[in-house]
Order: sequence, then C-alpha cells, then structure tokens
Amino acid sequence: MKPAADLIITSANELLTLRGHSSSPKTGKEMDDLGIIPDGCLAISEDRIIACGSMDEVLAEVSETPDTVKIDASSRVVMPGFIDSHTHLVFAGGREDEFEQRIKGAGYLDILKSGGGIFNTVRATRAAGKEELIKKSRKHLDTMLKFGTTTVEAKSGYGLTIEDESKQLQVMKELNKIHPVDVIPTFLVHTTPPEFSSREKYIDFVINNMLPKMRGMAEYCDIFCEHEVFDPEHSLQVLTAAKKLGFKLKIHADQLSDMGCARLAAELHAASASHLDHISREGIDAMANSGTVAILLPGAAFFLGSDTYAPAPEMISRGVAVALATDFNPGSCPTESMQIILTLACITMKMSPAQVINAATINAAHAINRADTIGSLEAGKRADVIILDVPNHKCIPYHFGVNLVQTVIKKGRIMRFGCAD
Ligand SMILES: [Zn+2]
Repeated sequence: MKPAADLIITSANELLTLRGHSSSPKTGKEMDDLGIIPDGCLAISEDRIIACGSMDEVLAEVSETPDTVKIDASSRVVMPGFIDSHTHLVFAGGREDEFEQRIKGAGYLDILKSGGGIFNTVRATRAAGKEELIKKSRKHLDTMLKFGTTTVEAKSGYGLTIEDESKQLQVMKELNKIHPVDVIPTFLVHTTPPEFSSREKYIDFVINNMLPKMRGMAEYCDIFCEHEVFDPEHSLQVLTAAKKLGFKLKIHADQLSDMGCARLAAELHAASASHLDHISREGIDAMANSGTVAILLPGAAFFLGSDTYAPAPEMISRGVAVALATDFNPGSCPTESMQIILTLACITMKMSPAQVINAATINAAHAINRADTIGSLEAGKRADVIILDVPNHKCIPYHFGVNLVQTVIKKGRIMRFGCAD
C-alpha cells in the first residue's frame, strides 16, 4: 500500500534537494552541488516529506486521495526553507540615531564605549515587559517567514541580569508556542553591564550565578569575544563552564580583529563560530574538518561599512564548513531577509549562487545541530519548503532586494505570500 500524500508539489523547474549531507556539513567542492532535480516533484504527508524526485518517481511511490492538495511549481524553484542560524531576535527599541552617527563617521566601538550601541538596546530591553517583547519579536518572525526563513536561532544578551536574560529566553519559549517559525534559544554573554566594575567580576557572576539559572532555558551558550568586550581567556572560562552544565557552544569570533577565537571554537568543539571577518590562516586550518561550522555574516560587515569580509573562498577550499546567517539585530544588521544576505555573500565574499544556497540551508542546519530533520528535501525530513518565483537558483541572489518567495510550507502547512499567476 503506497502512502497517501496530503500535498504534492509538481513540475518544479528546479527542485533543489541539497540531499545526502544529513550527517556531516558540506565542504569544498560539495558546496557546488545543490542536488537539483529538473521537473521535480515533492510529496508531503502531515508535517513530513514522504517522497522527493522526478514526477514519475514520486507518483509511483505515493498515492493521491480526493483531499490531496496539488501545487504546480512549473517555472519556479522549490527548495528547503532558509535556516537563519545566528540572530538577536528579541530586543526593544531601535538604533536608527546611531546609524546616522555612523554615517557621519563615528566608529562602532567608539559608540559602544560612550554608552551607546549594545547598551542602548540593553536599556530598552530591560525596560520592556514580556508582552511588548513578544509583540515586537513576533512581527520580525512574520517578516522572516514571508522571506522564506522557517527556522531561526535567537540569542539573549540584551538583559545582562538574571531576570532580564531569563525574560528574553522566556519570550523565545512563548514565540515557539504561538508562531510557526521554530526558534532555537541561545544564552549570549554579550558585554559587561555598567553595574559591574570589571569584566572579570561579570565573568565570575556569569559562571557562578547566571549559567546555572539559564540551563534548561537555552540550548546553546555563546560569548562575544572581541577587544574591549571579552578576550579568549574569558571566553574559554565561560564556555568550559557552560559545557560542563550541558550547553552546546557557539562563539562570536574574530569579527573586528583576529583574536585567535576560530581556533578556540574548534578546540572546544563548538557547534559554530560566527563572523570570522578577520580569521587568520591558522584559524582556517584549525576549523577545517573540525565539525565546527563557520557562520559568516556579511550583512553585519556591510552595514558597519567594513572593507574586510571573511575569506569565504579560501575557507571553503581548505575544508571549513561555511554557513550564512543574517545576524539580525538592531545595531549592526537590521534585516530579517536571508535573500539579501545571499546576494551580499556573492558580491562581497565571491561565493557562488550554489555555495550561498548550501550555506543557508543544509550547512546552517548543521550549525544548529538539526541536519537530521531540516536543511534538505529528503523523505523523512520535516516539510519546511519554499517556492520561489524564479526560473532557476542563480536568480535567487541575482534578483536582489525584493522578496522572491511566493509560498512557504512550514511543517506541511501552506502559507502563500506572493501573487499567483
Ligand atoms: Zn551576533
């Protein structure tokens, strides 16, 4: 007896399966392959993919019922939903004034030192109630979903007290109940709050008081390792303590300068190291084949007006698993759109269209340890699928600045955003 399909997507001009890499991320030449099936077909039952292949293959494997819904995807691209593996989703307030200051010449770290930057958002987030944060974050998630993101990692780090960090993590838990997009919670050690006289005192407080309280609320622990913020020694202390408590690890590494954090991430077997705009050759070699995914965030470098981007082609060719994410946050990258990030990655880091799509799906799934369930279109995986109104995958980063996503299928549920023709 063939399984019955609730939904069949037919005649995709290009069906990008990204198949065959659920157990380890793609590196090197594997990044050039999207597992494309021309005139492809995908069958879904409830929230799972049950068949994926050519029209003939899929229609031979599944049965239709009078209730089976069919979507004709001819002249369109069908692919896994984007996975945004690095965001700061939950915050209050905006930083548009600081944006204007930066245009006039102020530096990001200068603004931070004078009490602005992250501290602006910390003040606003501390003052905001849970309901206000849920309302605001929900709106951002709506935009993400419309632009094709079906899973998002989200960091705390704008509270910097036990109470306010907990509040951010509780908001994420609430969002998971009320919103279709899956939110993966991370506790971020972001910066030292003004009420602490030294970084060392705050690090002690984090290790002895905060981490035990955040356990159970956050899956990952992350730290911002940067000059004037936390150095590699602080990062090692916090992440070692977090690992003992059962957290998986992430790190903000080598964004504004080479801090040697790429190597630290690899040595600690972190799930990911993010930014890496200033990664050294030694850091690249340490990360290659380490299992730690490099999450590159060209949107942040672009928005900060940087002229240094992560050396993506060298990282890929030397065996580093590369993912892409928005870094969505109010200061250095206020966009929810993974599509614009793909364009920026092509232009600024010379990644190819196939590489950026791999980086935003299957490798991003590895960066959040979920490649067994999402990130590719294969039988048994969750039905998180997007349909884009473009004839082939190269058009996704090429036709930029607009939303190409027409239909989002999240856990088998259909949501249409574009106009059908
Ligand atoms: Zn970040």
